[in-house]
Amino acid sequence: MKLNIAVIKGDGIGPEIVNEALRVLQKTAGLYGHELSLKEVLLGGASIDAFGRPLTDETIEVCRASDAVLMGSIGGDTNTSPWYKLEPHLRPEAGLLGIRKALGLFANLRPAYLYEVLADACPLKKEISAKGFDLLIMRELTGGLYFGERKTVTENGIRKAVDTLTYDENEIRRIAIRAFEIARKRKKKVTSVDKANVLDSSRLWRAVVNEVSADYPDVVLEHMLVDNCAMQLVKDPAQFDVVLTENMFGDILSDEASMITGSIGMLSSASLNDTKLGLYEPSHGSAPDIAGKNIANPIATILSAAMMLRYSFDLDREADDIENAVRTVLNEGFRTKDIYSEGMKELSCSGMGEMIAGHIKGGS
Ligand code: NAD
Repeated sequence: MKLNIAVIKGDGIGPEIVNEALRVLQKTAGLYGHELSLKEVLLGGASIDAFGRPLTDETIEVCRASDAVLMGSIGGDTNTSPWYKLEPHLRPEAGLLGIRKALGLFANLRPAYLYEVLADACPLKKEISAKGFDLLIMRELTGGLYFGERKTVTENGIRKAVDTLTYDENEIRRIAIRAFEIARKRKKKVTSVDKANVLDSSRLWRAVVNEVSADYPDVVLEHMLVDNCAMQLVKDPAQFDVVLTENMFGDILSDEASMITGSIGMLSSASLNDTKLGLYEPSHGSAPDIAGKNIANPIATILSAAMMLRYSFDLDREADDIENAVRTVLNEGFRTKDIYSEGMKELSCSGMGEMIAGHIKGGS
């Protein structure tokens, strides 16, 4: 299979971690007989330096013409980088918002997985972390409160601010379909999270998710109120598989889910549109404090590449192989600096990439 991938290395540690993900992809493609066609484009700070803008038409065109986009993080030190002296629409983050919009990415996926050997980093009680967890927060990304009409007015000398939360049934249906499809590739359970005891938009959300679930009898559906979900994530995260929710609830719950894994350098993410095209990137930022030192943890980006194989190319065996390689390398005691603990064997960023690539088994 030919894999057409746009590559955005990004800023800070971006180039270092993306190079390691490409190393693992090359190795996997070679062993499974796939051909990688990579096109590198710029975004964020690197694009500002080259073209004076964080996003160019060329980047949009190359990404649109690809099957998937693999990205490192973008942005610099917000206190010292000259990029942050520019107008907001010319700063690195504007490029990220722009590319998400241009590609119509409406579904954001953030897995939270606890590796047994890293359980000590989990801030939850031992009896909870001992059960492990493997969940995925699926957040609607282009609607709801963050995109509704807003205004601030003064009425009779009193300042008043208004934000509006709107969803139509099509916006809900398309992400619900995605959630059920993805649950089919996992543990076949969807927990739809809303605030249906208070909000009309949540009542519509729940009704449409119920309608969609009728087409997926093999997937268990449950509904949960968002306040309860926030509690359950710290009380019993093992109960979850796919957690489907709207934009603002997802924003908050996905950060909570990241926190309970305890290791930011390990968390992958994907943003999908209604075709197979997706943008895959680590959940963390560009870590300018450690850029260029070859000490960053490349695992989040390597796992993002595995998600890319699974969701944009339906190459589940290859994705499993990469995820198993990561698990084996951790089980063998190899760590980058950020997750190092006494008695373990420390590797550089490139050392970790090489080690994981060396553990890809290939098809037989
Ligand atoms: P950050 O995630 O870059 O860093 C927070 C801390 O975690 C730092 O100490 C950093 O060294 C460490 N860290 C992060 N990733 C790591 C890795 N892979 N290996 C080892 N250590 C790692 O967050 P920040 O410092 O708040 O932001 C830095 C820049 O990144 C800012 O410009 C911000 O806007 C940008 N950012 C970009 C994205 C994105 O591209 N999607 C997301 C978040 C932040």
